[in-house]
Amino acid sequence: MHNTVIKLLDEVKQLWMATDSLKAFTDWPDDLIASNSAPNPAPAAEKIMAWRPPENSETSPLVHTVQQAAFHVNWQFIYTEEEVGRHFLDNYAYFELIGPTGHFQSDQCCAFIGYWGPGLFYPAHHHASEELYFVLAGHALFESDGDGPATLGPAAHRFHASHQPHAMTTTDSAILTLVLWRGPDLTGLSQLVSADN
Ligand code: ZN
Repeated sequence: MHNTVIKLLDEVKQLWMATDSLKAFTDWPDDLIASNSAPNPAPAAEKIMAWRPPENSETSPLVHTVQQAAFHVNWQFIYTEEEVGRHFLDNYAYFELIGPTGHFQSDQCCAFIGYWGPGLFYPAHHHASEELYFVLAGHALFESDGDGPATLGPAAHRFHASHQPHAMTTTDSAILTLVLWRGPDLTGLSQLVSADN
């Protein structure tokens, strides 16, 4: 494992331990096992490295570490070009730092880092696990069924209940987020809400 990925775990832990919204959502996992996940490239990685968002005292240490680790993590894409379009796939990526299939394996929770470039619409989707979005840099409009829309920036958070549909729109800025999942199904994938339901 590249040393920047180990540093990433340390920075996420420091932020988690210092942040009430993260601690209240779920405890730091005590079953972590380092895996040998290989780096997987993403077109978005170079955009993340070149981005210079405003500094934030709470989140910038982790943002800088994500930038340093951007070529060494196992980027994932769960949606197809048919579902979200080529432009979306070239400007979005996420990786599982902690979780059943993460760089650090855990059966207690997941911690993902997700990036969306400016001017993207992430259509409504849902999943079994409960979720907490925590903004690390940039901002976006968050919309979810049953809750009012909100534009959130660094250190703000947003909770999504199990199978509560939620969508996100970026405007003039990219957004970098830490996304936590807690039970019931940590291996369940996000499902887009199809137009006919
Ligand atoms: Zn979600």
